[in-house]
Amino acid sequence: MGTAIHVEVWHGDAALAQRAIDAVLEQMHHVDTVMSPFRPESELSQVNRNAADAPVAVSTELAALVAHALRLSELTGGAFDITFASVGYLYDYRTHTRPDAATIRRSLPAIDYRHVQVDPQAATIAFTSPGVRIDLGGIAKGYAVEQSAALLRGMGIEHALISAGGDTRVVGDRFGRPWMVGIRHPRDEYGIVTRLPLQDEAVSTSGDYERYFDEDGVRYHHIIDPGTGDSARSVLSVTVIGADATLTDALSTSLFVLGVERGIELIDRLPGYEAVIIDRHGTLHYSAGLVAP
Ligand code: AMP
Ligand code: MG
Repeated sequence: MGTAIHVEVWHGDAALAQRAIDAVLEQMHHVDTVMSPFRPESELSQVNRNAADAPVAVSTELAALVAHALRLSELTGGAFDITFASVGYLYDYRTHTRPDAATIRRSLPAIDYRHVQVDPQAATIAFTSPGVRIDLGGIAKGYAVEQSAALLRGMGIEHALISAGGDTRVVGDRFGRPWMVGIRHPRDEYGIVTRLPLQDEAVSTSGDYERYFDEDGVRYHHIIDPGTGDSARSVLSVTVIGADATLTDALSTSLFVLGVERGIELIDRLPGYEAVIIDRHGTLHYSAGLVAP
């Protein structure tokens, strides 16, 4: 997943706590092995190579997560779209590589989640159009930390924090107090904009400072507007809080594409989910449930 994993477990039995941490790391490796676009033999890479020719048999786990991602495309009006990768693969932020306008125009029709057909019963994935690629980078880390939280609870752990990059899931509280998770300043690596108290819930942040390069004053970064094939630029960061890390992960990416107005409008329709958006001027915007009455 190309990111650091942080696991914090509190338990009276140190050996159990260590086994719990090992189990989380194993879970993370498992998700990476199945879903990494950088591993040629991952299920995801096999789908990208072959699904335009014939349905590809996958694990029920991958089929279910892709089906979930497609439902989130419907929910977000297409802002969340795992076929962003049909253009997204042409960017390499490390080497400052980006497609030119003509190349984007040629590949753009391949971005459309409706090109992806999942049969969850048979566990197959097919693409109905050539040139389609999928990437689960906007949801897989949240999924992995959510699965990890369930695993810890199953082992009898009642107080823990798991994070993978911008996605954090806490289990229980921290000695009778909530866990405190900071939202980082989008232009100052060591600055904290605000802290959020969390208890048995998840928080995900999407920012334009994670993977990017600047060229002629324009920032090319890893969150792609499926409508344009270019980076979404109306905001600097989005943080979403809610019960389920798979959802907070996908929603933070989605709201980043939607921007302040449409983003807040969407989150205010989802009970139990709240957001903090930092717009391009550095101004903070809060969803209805976070605004002091
Ligand atoms: P996050 O840090 O959770 O916002 O995830 C960013 C990652 O999501 C990127 O690195 C891409 O792998 C993926 N991504 C980028 N744009 C989109 C999009 N419009 N819909 C779904 N996933 C995306
Ligand atoms: Mg996300």
